[in-house]
Amino acid sequence: MAELLIKNGRVIDPANGVDRLCDVLIVDGKFEQVGKIDKKVQNVIDATGKIVSPGLIDIHVHFREPGDEEEETIASGSAAAVAAGFTSVVCMPNTRPPIENETDVEYIHRKGRQARKTHVYTMGAITKNLEGVELAEMGFMAEAGALGFTDDGKGVQDTAVMLRALKYASMFDVVIAQHCQDDGFAGNGVMNSGYVAAILGLPGIDALAEEAMLWRDIQLVKKLSGNRIRYHAQHLSTAGAIELIRSAKKDSVPITCEVTPHHLLLTEASCAEYDTNYKVNPPLRTSKDIDALKEAIAEGLVDALVSDHAPHLQSEKELEFLAAPFGIASMECSLGLFVKALIEPGILDWPGLIKLMTAGPARVIGIDKGTLSKGNQGDVTIIDPDAEYTVDTNTFVSKSRNCPYHGWKLKGKVEKTIVGGEIRYSADK
Ligand SMILES: [Zn+2]
Ligand SMILES: [Zn+2]
Repeated sequence: MAELLIKNGRVIDPANGVDRLCDVLIVDGKFEQVGKIDKKVQNVIDATGKIVSPGLIDIHVHFREPGDEEEETIASGSAAAVAAGFTSVVCMPNTRPPIENETDVEYIHRKGRQARKTHVYTMGAITKNLEGVELAEMGFMAEAGALGFTDDGKGVQDTAVMLRALKYASMFDVVIAQHCQDDGFAGNGVMNSGYVAAILGLPGIDALAEEAMLWRDIQLVKKLSGNRIRYHAQHLSTAGAIELIRSAKKDSVPITCEVTPHHLLLTEASCAEYDTNYKVNPPLRTSKDIDALKEAIAEGLVDALVSDHAPHLQSEKELEFLAAPFGIASMECSLGLFVKALIEPGILDWPGLIKLMTAGPARVIGIDKGTLSKGNQGDVTIIDPDAEYTVDTNTFVSKSRNCPYHGWKLKGKVEKTIVGGEIRYSADK
């Protein structure tokens, strides 16, 4: 019998209302007990002064395999994930080619198992080749274990296609996740439209691009109410989008949403030096938008915090602002970034933050994780809440370095990442 005892930590398990100093016992890869445990076992971790959390979950990452393995692979991304405290990740399907059938889904899962780091899940494409026209093979993908569908990178423009996608996905009880962006409003924009874009002479992406599509989708979800519709709005960035979510949730419309660290910490002003590490989609907005996102998080309107880890080659990011690809690779420092954005200003406490990185995202995608409940897989993240560090992208496990936080001082460090009772990452090794 393989036993692992984590002693004397501050055990935080928001789904079970636990926040106290105690021990956690994992037997044969599964949680056995949370409490004061005096049992003698061979493997003991002393977590004095540390937080013992259910394994963190990131439901929005881009691992670039297949197609762009020089940017990231499932192996390198998985190793980066456990270094960042994530015991489960959900890959986006906009690879080359996209993940759009059963075989593709099985390929991602197999690569994830081979990497033996974090649990690797994937979403499948909503439409074939992400073209927004014909629905992909959602049924087969759901059977193969896809945890939802998205054309992430772009939004589904055609309303009739979106309606069919929502209906179809509900038959398999999986979530439709939307990159809310109306192409008509977004045009060829590369940053937030407004004063800064005007000064820089760069085409902008209006906040309406996000809000128009989110508004439309909420109408569709309302229309289909009564069916088992599950809709998730990805990486919200504008105050107007938050207003729509607030009113929809008040009306009990079954929707969930997520927020990234960059939309909480950076504004459009960061683009002023034409540094492409700040080019991201949806774009960095204004401080007014940041305030609205934080307010929504404080109110409990946001279901999950995600990195939207989007690795790119240095050579691509060195292109001029107009031509460089969108994306920030920040998974490896995302816990510290969320601590800075949300705990330090007093918007959330540790249980609040952990909920949005464990039970919250688990609920969005419908997996039995994110808690320390007896019988669940023994996934744990041990965090030193007081440890400070300086972000050094040169030490990233990820293959990519397109991260604007190089040199930032952050607090809250991952000490150990345990997956199914096995230590898969340790900071002291
Ligand atoms: Zn996206
Ligand atoms: Zn994305």
